Amino acid sequence: MNNSYWLNTAPPFTAPTVELPAHTEMVILGAGIMGCALAYWLARAGKTPLVLERNAHPAGGATGRNGGLHVAGPGGAPYHRWADRAAARAIMQLTLRNRELLEEILEREAIQANYKRVGFMHLAQAHEAAELKALAQALNEDGFAAHWLERAEAEKKLGTSLGERYLGAVLKPDDGQFHSARYAFGVAEAARNLGARLAFSTPAQAVEPGPGGRSWLIHTPRGQCVAEQVIIALNAWAGELFPELTQTIAPTRGHIILTAPVNFTLTPWEANDDWDYGRQLETGQILLGGRRNTQPDLDLGCAPAPGENAPPLEPSVVEALAQIAPQLFPALKDVPIVQAWSGAMAFTSDWQPLAGQWPGRAGLWVLAGFSGHGMPFSLVLPQAIAAQLTGTAGEAIPSAFAPERFLKA
Ligand SMILES: Cc1cc2nc3c(=O)[nH]c(=O)nc-3n(C[C@H](O)[C@H](O)[C@H](O)COP(=O)(O)OP(=O)(O)OC[C@H]3O[C@@H](n4cnc5c(N)ncnc54)[C@H](O)[C@@H]3O)c2cc1C
Repeated sequence: MNNSYWLNTAPPFTAPTVELPAHTEMVILGAGIMGCALAYWLARAGKTPLVLERNAHPAGGATGRNGGLHVAGPGGAPYHRWADRAAARAIMQLTLRNRELLEEILEREAIQANYKRVGFMHLAQAHEAAELKALAQALNEDGFAAHWLERAEAEKKLGTSLGERYLGAVLKPDDGQFHSARYAFGVAEAARNLGARLAFSTPAQAVEPGPGGRSWLIHTPRGQCVAEQVIIALNAWAGELFPELTQTIAPTRGHIILTAPVNFTLTPWEANDDWDYGRQLETGQILLGGRRNTQPDLDLGCAPAPGENAPPLEPSVVEALAQIAPQLFPALKDVPIVQAWSGAMAFTSDWQPLAGQWPGRAGLWVLAGFSGHGMPFSLVLPQAIAAQLTGTAGEAIPSAFAPERFLKA
């Protein structure tokens, strides 16, 4: 079975699906967190966006199968390695704004997502120590919290002993974690309560220029719908509907395993040249993800089969994750692995998402390609796109996310 903890344990999402209108102003394709959050912001602005989702509930894709980590900062190259430091700083600030929005929206909409700021640790082997110290220094220079901890201090903060190869860690004290499906379901429910229309079990089958060339015609098994604006929030599935995006956004497999509960408290972490990561669940279980580096081509291009929510589980990666668990934390030595699942990430070649209008195609927007790092953008980018769609003031979207870098008019 390839089921995620999050989807297994979230209260069922029970909202009824809506009828398809023949014509509407805005259609969002996909009800992952990006589609749900965009619907939320549009509905808060008085719009009634229609969301088309092929599953019977939100978050069936990457959103409901991820690590549930909210780690501030740009994806891709580490912060101190960005040639354009001002761009890295702007993205960092955007993710901190996302954290503010997250805390605000969870409270305002009474979403019980077990969110907590618990900190995040970059564990260092000897060959990584200098780089990680440089990371902390660069973050500090720009006014962001991070500090180096020697091994004993790192173990104290982490909550357990480190494997012998780790000699310290950088701690970012304000990063957080949550229950991914509870979060997405809550945002979807809030969007619905505000007037967004959620059409589940309604896959978009094709999108083509509509009558007169100034709108978009969407085909679904439940009928057709013409929309003035269409927003592609399909992440790993974007290329299925828009073949031009197959060159730009590569579906990419990620794996996660879960241990039985342990009797210590573990701070979330990343390790082994950033290939592996993990955290603890509210049940006391430890979640470990990664080991993509054991796979040919890093599992880039490994997509879900048609109609599936995740690529198939690869037993050798599950085994590799099980093997590194006690190497990271010796206390995990005899703790059984009780669950494993996979999910579909969506990588671009520069590991930055596409967020904005499709150049030269009036009314078509892209919000996809999150490259395994979508949660710290999951409210702020949808809010910025909603502002552009409604012609109101909003956060500036970094030029590093401009669709123009891949899509030509
Ligand atoms: C194993 C794993 C671990 C991860 N861990 C983290 C983490 O800890 N922190 C972090 O920041 N990020 C993490 N990520 C990445 C994060 O989950 C994504 O960046 C984020 O969920 C992207 O959200 P989305 O809404 O763009 O995509 P998705 O959640 O994938 O949503 C796309 C939606 O489109 C729907 N869809 C597909 N085709 C159609 C169609 N034809 N018509 C209608 N609907 C369709 C799908 O069913 C799906 O609901 C992880 C991802 C994976 C897979």
